[in-house]
Amino acid sequence: APLIDIKNISFEYEQTKALHNISMTVEEGDFLAILGPNGSGKSTLLKIMLGLIKPTAGKIELFGEDAKKFKKREWIGYVSQKSNSFNSGFPAIVKEVVAGGLAKKTGLFHRLPKSTHEQVAEALEAVGMADFIDRSISELSGGQQQRIFIARALVAKPKILILDEPTVGVDHQNVQSFYDMLAKLNRDKHITMVLVTHDVDTVTDRITHVACLNQTIHFHGFKEQLHT
Ligand code: ADP
Ligand code: ADP
Repeated sequence: APLIDIKNISFEYEQTKALHNISMTVEEGDFLAILGPNGSGKSTLLKIMLGLIKPTAGKIELFGEDAKKFKKREWIGYVSQKSNSFNSGFPAIVKEVVAGGLAKKTGLFHRLPKSTHEQVAEALEAVGMADFIDRSISELSGGQQQRIFIARALVAKPKILILDEPTVGVDHQNVQSFYDMLAKLNRDKHITMVLVTHDVDTVTDRITHVACLNQTIHFHGFKEQLHT
């Protein structure tokens, strides 16, 4: 079964139709970019995939199970658009932030249990931030902070990583290497990637699929999943 199977989904907020009759699948190993102008429903679609909101019509299955019944939430990692910006001035140490992504672990830890420390170190290694484990997150650049938030999502060993505009806080000259890091997670750690982005030109080298909401863009070399 596909990891995510969306069938004829619509979503309406009180006044606004955000999504109209969307169908798409995400298969294991995909690197899917969701594109579309502001207001086209990209964040709403991610929130539906995450089970944060329920579609007003249609059906969604996660890992072959009705989303309503799906319990393995840790299989789906999420880095929201806001995780970067709310953080400025936040005094936490990198390892505490990353450890916060482990299920059932809350609060800040100055001394991590050995097994937790190893999991945190591994997640930081995967995002190229191993040397920053004891640094304060507030001293890091926007792009480095975003990598830390990705490590925070990775530490729970998700099968899918869902990213909402992950490069918003990343300096222009670091965007390429940021996508290289995501492509490496997809290829070497076998993490299925779903991301919302505006970096159309940069991402086309890495992605396997695109889904376009409310716009038509012509691409070559990979499968387009939907136009609405
Ligand atoms: P995108 O992520 O592509 O910018 P969104 O999914 O955030 O699009 O929004 C889709 C539409 O739904 C927009 O018209 C937006 O204003 C509206 N919308 C989003 N969130 C809410 C909300 N919480 N309440 C009401 N309308 C919303
Ligand atoms: P995001 O793309 O991370 O959801 P937005 O800037 O689109 O960020 O929205 C920020 C918050 O405001 C979200 O929780 C969204 O659901 C809500 N929101 C967006 N548009 C509207 C709207 N027109 N009316 C009410 N809430 C909205």
